[in-house]
Amino acid sequence: MKSLFAVKGNIIFTKELGKFEVCEKGYIVVEDDEIVGVFSELDEKYKDIEVIDYGDNLLIPGFVDLHVHAPQYPNIGLGLDKELMPWLETYTFPEEAKYKDLCYAEKVYSRFVHDLWKNGTTRAVVFGTIHKEATKRLMDLFAEAGLGAYVGKVNMDRNSPEFLCEETEQSINDTLEIVKEYGNKYELVKPIITPRFVPSCTPELMEALGKIAKEYQVPVQSHLSENFGEICFVKELHPDAPFYGSIYDKYGLFGDTPTIMAHCVLCSEDEVNLLVEKGVFIAHNPNSNCNLASGIAPIRRLLSRGIPIGLGSDVSSGHTLSMANACVIASQVSKIK
Ligand SMILES: [Zn+2]
Repeated sequence: MKSLFAVKGNIIFTKELGKFEVCEKGYIVVEDDEIVGVFSELDEKYKDIEVIDYGDNLLIPGFVDLHVHAPQYPNIGLGLDKELMPWLETYTFPEEAKYKDLCYAEKVYSRFVHDLWKNGTTRAVVFGTIHKEATKRLMDLFAEAGLGAYVGKVNMDRNSPEFLCEETEQSINDTLEIVKEYGNKYELVKPIITPRFVPSCTPELMEALGKIAKEYQVPVQSHLSENFGEICFVKELHPDAPFYGSIYDKYGLFGDTPTIMAHCVLCSEDEVNLLVEKGVFIAHNPNSNCNLASGIAPIRRLLSRGIPIGLGSDVSSGHTLSMANACVIASQVSKIK
C-alpha cells in the first residue's frame, strides 16, 4: 500500500546559493518516502491525507557533513594543542591504529552513527581507517541506521608509523575489494576512494587508486593545502610538482570522478584555477582550521570562482559533530577574514 502524508510547520530550505526559501505554516507532502513538494496550502487532492502538525517549529532538511573522520570520534575535544602534522602523530594515528580490533570499531562506530543522527546529520562523507573490515562494518552501520554516506577506506603506504602503514599492494587490493563488494550493496551508502593525503601515499599507490576510481566510477576525497607544515612536506616529496593539487591531478584523483578536497586554506592561484577547471568540490572545515591553527579559508574568493563548497565537522580536529555549530563558526571566521 502506498503511504501518503504531510508534515506542517515553518519550512526553511536553500534551493540555491545565497537564497532562503521560507514557507510559513507550510506543508511538505511525502509519498512513499519521497517528498512530492512543498506547499503553502494543501491541494484539493491531498485534503484527506494525514497531517503531522509541528505547530510553530522549524522544518529544515537534514544536514550534510562533507568531511568527518569516524575513527577519531573518541578523541573529540582532546589534543588540540598542536598543528596538523604533530597532531596526527601524537593523537590521531595511535587512535586510528585501534580499528584493527573489530570489537573496538563496532563500539565506536555504532555510537558515531547514532550521534550523527542525533545532531540532525542525515548524509555524510566519511573517512574510516586503513582497516578493511572495520570500514565495511561502518558502511553496514550507516545502512542499518537508514542514513546516507560515502565511506572511504583510508590509504597510507609511506611516512606513516609502522602500526598504521600499509603495503602498497595490500592497500590497493583492500580498496578494490570494498569497491566491488559495496559499490551496489546499498542505495544510500557507497564507497569513496580515500588517499589520506599526498604525504602518506606513494606515487604508485595514487596511480592505482586513480585507475580504480576511473574504472569503477567511484568518487574521491582527500585533503589539500590545509597547513604550512604539510605544504612544505609535500614540496620536499615532490619538488617538480608546480603545486600540491597537481599531484592528485597527475594520478587521476582531482575531478576525473566527483572529488571533494578538504580545507583548501592556502591554495595558490594556480591551484584555485585547477579546482575550477576540474570541478572539484571543497569541504570547508572552519572548526578544525581554528583548532589546529591552520588559518581561515578564503571561502568568499573561492565561491566567487564558482567552486561548489560544503561544510564539514572534521571531527576530531573539529570538536563537535554539530553542523549547526559549523554554520555559525563559518559565518564568524568569514567576518574576521
Ligand atoms: Zn580531515
